[in-house]
This record gives sequence, C-alpha cells and structure tokens, in this order.
Amino acid sequence: MAKLIEGKLVAKKILENLSDEILFLEKKPCLAVIIAGNDPASKIYVNSKKKKAEEIGIKSIVIELPENCTQQEILEKIYTLNNDESVNGILVQLPLPAHINTKEVLEKINPIKDVDGLHPYNLGHVASGSKPYAHPCTPTGIVRLLEYYDISVSGRHAVIIGRSNLVGRPLSYMLLNQNATVTICHSKTTNLQEITKQADILVSAAGRKNLVNADMIKEKAVVIDVGINRQEDGKLCGDVDFWSVEPKASYITPVPGGVGPMTICSLMQNTFDLYKIQNKI
Ligand code: NAD
Repeated sequence: MAKLIEGKLVAKKILENLSDEILFLEKKPCLAVIIAGNDPASKIYVNSKKKKAEEIGIKSIVIELPENCTQQEILEKIYTLNNDESVNGILVQLPLPAHINTKEVLEKINPIKDVDGLHPYNLGHVASGSKPYAHPCTPTGIVRLLEYYDISVSGRHAVIIGRSNLVGRPLSYMLLNQNATVTICHSKTTNLQEITKQADILVSAAGRKNLVNADMIKEKAVVIDVGINRQEDGKLCGDVDFWSVEPKASYITPVPGGVGPMTICSLMQNTFDLYKIQNKI
C-alpha cells in the first residue's frame, strides 16, 4: 500500500507560514491577474487564486477583458502593470481566446514580475540550471512535495509524461538540476509502458483519464498525478487509475488534493518572493 502524498495538507502548512510572514509587512505584496474571455474553468481558477491571496494577506487585482478583446488591449494592460510599482506579480490566465498570440503576451511581462515563471527569461534560467526570478508553479509544487516527503531525486530515474511549457518541460529541468536521470514522454512516444515501467518517480501530466495503470509502473515507484480530468459523474480525477496503482506504488498523490493545492501555494510563494526581490529584502 502506498503512502498518500497529501498536497492539501502540505500546502496549508506552507501558506500558514507565508501568512505569518506577510502579517508583519507594512506594505503588502500584490498579485494582478488578467483574464480574457468567458471560459468557466478559468473563472473558477481566477476566483480561487484571488480568494487564497486575500486569505493570506496578499492584495489581489483581477482585470477582466471580454472574449473579443484585442492583442493590443492585453499588451496595454501588461504595460501598465509592468510600470505600476505597487504590483509585484502579473499572471495571465491561460488559455487566452484563440485569436490572441499567447507567446507574445507572456513575453511582454517583465520577467521580474512573471509570477507564473513562464517568460523565456525565467524558463531559460531553469533550463540552464541557474536561478530564475520565479520557477513555474506546478513543477515547483511537485518538487516541494518530494522534498516534504523526503523522497530523494538524485540518481533516480524520473519519467515525465507530458512536455508542455507549463508542466513537463520545466519539471524535467528542475529534476535534472537535482541530479535525476530524466526521460520525457509525450503523445508521439511509441513505447510508453516500456519507459514508464523504468521510472523510480513517475509524473503524469497528460490530461488523459486512466492513462497510467498498475501494469505501467515499477514496484514501489513514486507516482505523481498532475492531470485534472472530469469523470462522467462530474467529479475530478487525474491521469492515474488510483486504485489499481496505489497497492503497487510507494507514494502516490490523490486527485483532487495532491498537486493542485501545491500549484496555488507556489503562486502565493512566488508573489512573496518577487515582492522581496523587488523591494531588495
Ligand atoms: P497540455 O495539453 O499542454 O500537455 C499535455 C501533454 O501530454 C502534451 O505534451 C502531450 O504530448 C502529452 N500527452 C497527451 N496525451 C498523451 C498520451 N496518451 N501519452 C503520452 N503523452 C500524452 O497540458 P498541460 O497544461 O501540461 O496540463 C496537463 C494536465 O495537467 C491537464 O490535465 C491539466 O488540467 C493538468 N494541470 C494540472 C495542474 C495542477 O495544478 N494540478 C496544473 C497544470 C495543469
């Protein structure tokens, strides 16, 4: 039986400490979120980020733009926030409407305010093994979970399913920087099971329900499920068939309550860290 990696609990502890630190600041950190369009899931995510920020004493600004907003309008908002000294972190909620050039938008955020760590400056530092202003939130949450549970990474084989800029790619570099041997799999990987069976640490970030079952993992593997999928009954599930994998794994994250709460926790930590960098604390 695997030990459950309780992201919800770990995140709560980290946020309590963060809240204590913020309590004593005269000027509070500030997170600005830009949301464009009417995607219901994005609205829920933005609301929960705002709520969490306010709970721990971070000021939060939400800028809502209509679905038919222009590229120029978004870039102007970013320009204003880049130049507003009271704003420490800028987050653009993804996905943006289809007609918007997301790459250009993300690249216009000042890297020192890039709280999601998705600017090429920050991703480039992660890839080259040096220090970014901010690491991407979900990979940071995963690394913190591994640290919290004392799961060693050095010298171990980490297999990551998914190569997005948001999760798979930066996580691969972060684990490599901690001396793991890293393999990335993706939708064009032909022998997925052969590779995942070699993993000491298996991370699935594909967004495919039941992609990972017990036949795909090695005995005593650490299994981290990043996926968020909807079941027929409307409930959330990950990429991992939890009940088939759990008896064989040594550690496993649940969905919900595993990686998700750590992502939002990393966002809060990043906002505070950028505040400190900007205020030279
Ligand atoms: P994405 O769609 O950008 O990337 C998915 C990746 O998975 C791609 O690289 C693709 O090649 C790979 N993939 C898809 N199907 C595959 C298959 N059958 N076999 C092997 N590889 C496959 O998605 P993303 O933004 O990286 O997110 C991935 C999942 O993680 C989604 O379910 C998303 O909702 C979730 N997510 C969760 C959190 C969190 O905090 N828990 C944060 C970000 C994303």
